[in-house]
Amino acid sequence: MKIGIIGGGISGLSLGCFLQTRGYDTEIFESHSIAGGLCSSWRKGDFIFDGCLHWVLGSDSGSSFYKLWSELLDMSSIEFVNHDIRVAIELKDNTDKNGNKVFLLYTNIDKLETYLLEIAPEDRAVIRSFVKLIRVMQKYELPPMIDNIPRLQTLRDKMDMIKYLPFVFQFFRWKNETNFSFAKKLKNPFLKEAFELLFDGDEVNLMVMAMPLAFYDKKSAGYPVGGSASFARRIADKYEDLGGKIHFNTQVDKILVENNIAKGVLLCDGTSLFSDITVSAADWHFTVFNALEGKFVNRKILELAKLKKFEVFPSVMLVSLGVSRDFKEHQHFFRFPIEQDYTSPDGTLYNRVEAHIYHYDPSLAPEGKTVIAMSFYTKNGEFWINLRNSNREEYNKSKALFAETMVDFLDQKIGGVKDSIEEIDVSTPATYQRYTGNWKGSVQGWFPGKNLLASSPVSATLPGLKNFYYTSHWSIPGGGLPSALKSAHDLAQIISLAHT
Ligand SMILES: Cc1cc2nc3c(=O)[nH]c(=O)nc-3n(C[C@H](O)[C@H](O)[C@H](O)COP(=O)(O)OP(=O)(O)OC[C@H]3O[C@@H](n4cnc5c(N)ncnc54)[C@H](O)[C@@H]3O)c2cc1C
Repeated sequence: MKIGIIGGGISGLSLGCFLQTRGYDTEIFESHSIAGGLCSSWRKGDFIFDGCLHWVLGSDSGSSFYKLWSELLDMSSIEFVNHDIRVAIELKDNTDKNGNKVFLLYTNIDKLETYLLEIAPEDRAVIRSFVKLIRVMQKYELPPMIDNIPRLQTLRDKMDMIKYLPFVFQFFRWKNETNFSFAKKLKNPFLKEAFELLFDGDEVNLMVMAMPLAFYDKKSAGYPVGGSASFARRIADKYEDLGGKIHFNTQVDKILVENNIAKGVLLCDGTSLFSDITVSAADWHFTVFNALEGKFVNRKILELAKLKKFEVFPSVMLVSLGVSRDFKEHQHFFRFPIEQDYTSPDGTLYNRVEAHIYHYDPSLAPEGKTVIAMSFYTKNGEFWINLRNSNREEYNKSKALFAETMVDFLDQKIGGVKDSIEEIDVSTPATYQRYTGNWKGSVQGWFPGKNLLASSPVSATLPGLKNFYYTSHWSIPGGGLPSALKSAHDLAQIISLAHT
């Protein structure tokens, strides 16, 4: 049985591997010249600029996600870096009792608990409850849910779920708590401000933050040395080793449909390619409204497209610098306030700057040098996409101005940045949209926000269309590699149940 897959990002590649292993004959159509989609890095001069991974869920050999990744690549051959401090956040208004303005988010839970209690003994009960949430999340990893789609779970798996009751209890206890509402419960002003700033000033459910902390502590969310492209390439190699074929520089325009049955794809160059099953692992909005012309929708899908249930995960402005110093005296990842708010050309107001120094990955720069990445969320990705389409000169000027301003802020903070720049690269939402087709330049699909309990908004099939399936980071709110992988794994099981 022949299966055509649109998109060679992590989801398309993973699905390809799972299906090849199950004996299907698959091929991937990828519009770009390399595999990986958003999980990408690129060379400029002596430097490799990374556009994606800070952490990969499942980097420790004990976890369920490690087991899943291991079906796709040799995880034991990758060196993962596990940082002691996830991020150092400089506050604007408050200091701790020693006059220190920087809050350190430790990845070791015991250390984090001791640190929080030292700062704010008066908040003992609230701190303890937060730490308990992290510990419970860590204990119950829900392996049956990760391994199998619900239909495939055995009675024993389901009985096993009883032991997850403490997790369920914690889930309901915290389901409406955000970092902002939690901060209100704290008496200590330093800690209050730190919690408000934990997600870059946005309000999100506290579990969205507690979850990664649970994984960091177990060393299950490490950074893969070599970066994103190298990680994705390993999966692409595995896919080809399994007999899969990737057609690069091959952009799909439409999905061919006859009598409500998907028959294959029509490429932008006019070629028709036929298959028994067609899967899209490309952008959700493109798939439903362009490739299928909005013909297979229901009310739920239309509401989703009007952003009634979920917001799109913001896009990113990414300023990457190749510098002639290693800046090892600084934390690898830090945020700090700026004196005066800055309004970017797209209208986003920034009052803080974030910098990521890759001095822990020597493979990205020559010895003694490093890469610094400064990334900034924007909800107005369409501004950059439209500007690039309508006025290239103005677009280039605006992104250069943005980068210059942000580099100035960093230079004022740590010094020596401007003088040591050898290479500079600026990606905007237009870059992400152009290279990967993601709607509005989204970097992780849907934004979970406060909406943690909502079920997955995108299903693997579309109403009224046979022999068509969908998978990507848009399938599970929050996106990221785990969503791309898990949705591909589930889909491989769904296809093999329906088409043996
Ligand atoms: C700055 C940044 C930081 C991130 N950090 C992390 C992190 O630390 N950890 C983490 O887990 N995740 C992170 N992510 C998110 C993660 O990269 C994505 O969620 C994930 O890679 C999405 O994979 P995907 O396969 O679902 O989609 P995509 O990567 O978007 O893949 C879709 C593929 O389809 C192709 N395509 C699209 N349209 C067509 C067409 N018409 N014809 C043919 N091919 C087409 C695209 O070229 C692309 O290759 C980050 C992302 C960014 C941008």
